[in-house]
Amino acid sequence: MSLDLSTSVQYIKGVGPARAQSLAAKNIQTVEDLLYYLPFRYEDRMNPRTLAELRPGEMASLIAEVRGSGFFRTRKMPLMQVTFGQGRSSLKAIWFNASYLKDRFKAGMLVALYGKVEDSQFGRGGLVMKQPQFEVLGMPEQGELDAESEAKIEHSLEIGRIVPIYESADHQKLTSRWFRGALWRTLQQLQGPLADGIPKAVRERMDLVDRLEAFQKAHFPLAGESFADLQAKRTPAHRRLIFEELFYLEVGLELKRARLKGRRGIAFTAGEPVRAAIKKFLPFHPTSAQKRVLKEIAEDMQHPTPMRRLLQGDVGSGKTLVALEAVVIAIENGHQAALMAPTEILATQHYLSARRLLEPLGYRIVLLTGSVEPAQKRGIRRHIAQGGAQLVIGTHALIEEKVEFAKIGLVIVDEQHRFGVMQRFRLMKKTGEAEPHVLVMTATPIPRTLALTLYGDLDVSVLDELPPGRTPITTRRVTDDRSADVWEFLRKQVKAGHQAYVVYPVIEAAEENDLLGLTAEEVEANKGRSKLGLKAAISMYDELRRKLLPDLRVGLLHGRLPSEEKDTVMQRFLRKEIDVLVSTTVIEVGVDVANANLMVIEHAERFGLSQLSYCVLMTGGKVSPEADRRLSEMVRTQNGFEIAELDLELRGPGEFFGTRQAGMPEFRVASLLRDRKILELAKREAAIVVSGSDPAISKQEVTTVMDHLKSHWQRRYGLVEVG
Ligand code: ADP
Ligand code: MG
Repeated sequence: MSLDLSTSVQYIKGVGPARAQSLAAKNIQTVEDLLYYLPFRYEDRMNPRTLAELRPGEMASLIAEVRGSGFFRTRKMPLMQVTFGQGRSSLKAIWFNASYLKDRFKAGMLVALYGKVEDSQFGRGGLVMKQPQFEVLGMPEQGELDAESEAKIEHSLEIGRIVPIYESADHQKLTSRWFRGALWRTLQQLQGPLADGIPKAVRERMDLVDRLEAFQKAHFPLAGESFADLQAKRTPAHRRLIFEELFYLEVGLELKRARLKGRRGIAFTAGEPVRAAIKKFLPFHPTSAQKRVLKEIAEDMQHPTPMRRLLQGDVGSGKTLVALEAVVIAIENGHQAALMAPTEILATQHYLSARRLLEPLGYRIVLLTGSVEPAQKRGIRRHIAQGGAQLVIGTHALIEEKVEFAKIGLVIVDEQHRFGVMQRFRLMKKTGEAEPHVLVMTATPIPRTLALTLYGDLDVSVLDELPPGRTPITTRRVTDDRSADVWEFLRKQVKAGHQAYVVYPVIEAAEENDLLGLTAEEVEANKGRSKLGLKAAISMYDELRRKLLPDLRVGLLHGRLPSEEKDTVMQRFLRKEIDVLVSTTVIEVGVDVANANLMVIEHAERFGLSQLSYCVLMTGGKVSPEADRRLSEMVRTQNGFEIAELDLELRGPGEFFGTRQAGMPEFRVASLLRDRKILELAKREAAIVVSGSDPAISKQEVTTVMDHLKSHWQRRYGLVEVG
């Protein structure tokens, strides 16, 4: 039977209903889905290495014969050890926790191995591979392969070629080897040529190879292919598939932008009365960054399309001031404005400073949070619905409780670090015909690559200058054998009237294993030590309170406290009833307490970003090269974006956000880190297609792109619905 892209995988030879179900769990339903299941690496089995030439420290692929094997039970776990030989040379392979391998190897078997070559620390030395990947190739007789194995290997997918390696699925039931076979058969049975939805002019500009050829070569590279390019996913085949994926993503984002442009917003004027009002309330000269950003915002707000703008700037960069200027524009134009904050404390802070600052303008400002008494709440809501309240400040309560506005013109979301991408936009849906302008503020420096995708449909403004009087942060890096000095410095700061944060990577010691993602092997290796070495917030809170800083008032805030308790602790810190706040993540703190000027981060090697006047990064003795690079960078630069870019590069986008964020697209072939350049090109080409600016692209071709988006992109990415 011949296949096409939309055929269900169960019709592929060797798949069937049961395996189709295993595949479905990996989101592989159609032939096309399977084709996108690309190898995560390749093995050069064209020229496997000989044992004699291997050196410790290198990754190697080799084919060798089983000489002997043993299965041991150590106190902690079962252990499989196999000796492989080639002539006079030999190598040991060790698998931990490997009961499943007990009867797997027989003397004389031929096996392909891939792993890191190390010096053995045991016995008479020699070379060892721990946990290598392996594939049993066959059973030769007297050193020769039997006829069957020989035949198998001849046109085999396993040897004498560059071999694709796949992630296994369904708990090892579908192995890498199985995928190889299934993909080989699929490509054999597939009817070419495949329809190509990318317009011809784009394909030519980007020099893209044929689609079917791209699949064939990405799965089964030809002999001449550069092995380095393959591993780096830089072959023409990879480039084509990556571009395609990013192209459709960017077309989708472009369409969203275009759709937004077609919607009706409110064109405000920003003439003399507005300027006079702003002048009247401004407590100081805006920085040039604030002026620039306000200009961008004011321009948006004078357009009859709704503003969708993201304002990025470190804590203390003066975002609130800019936000209030935007509020003045809306209110002077006879509309209401809403400002949402992620917590009650932040909402209350905004409320207090808005009241203070906007007092000269006589605006009616209300605060609506979850803790307002029901009777009072009803009154406030009525006030909002009748248009009496001009500026409404609140928490999620504003969205959750379906507050109705008489005439909303501007919504500001102070995201700090916490809002989900979805939540941001729900508020905007409440309005009648014309849509309000929306400004999202965030203190998280979002690297450009992520901004292009996650926030690809927003315009971006950046406050990259600190207001005068805000001293740049002094960041110092120390190892924890100097902690006594650090506590002394902290004590001095507190005595001088300041407050401090002390941040730990875990709440309790028991989380350590999980957090570190230790393998059984590593747990074993750490045995004998009392601890894995991470200090935890709860125990250090006790230690600080009782022994290290008994003369100071120490408080504790962590993610598992109920939210009222968190709020109480923060309120006490704000009222200066707490000198030192012990916390778990920098993000948890999230509030800018003007009086707090020092943050000590213990195990700083485990943290990403920081913003504060002093920041002490305390680390344990041993730090990974990656963490070392990141820490040096944090000491060197004040630029949050530089750190964020580096962080993204080192840790990947998933971890960058802590948890996977709603709306974060999951790619099949592309990687935001690796493929930045292609992403930029895809964005450029997408803009050309959507704008219709290239006469070489026909209407029919554009329709094809749109159809593809409708059927694929929606289903795969279902990106955040923006308003
Ligand atoms: P963000 O919201 O970005 O964290 P804020 O708007 O709260 O920052 O500003 C931080 C502090 O700097 C506030 O105390 C604010 O009054 C002050 N500030 C903001 N802009 C200026 C300016 N142009 N000149 C002097 N101080 C400023
Ligand atoms: Mg702020």
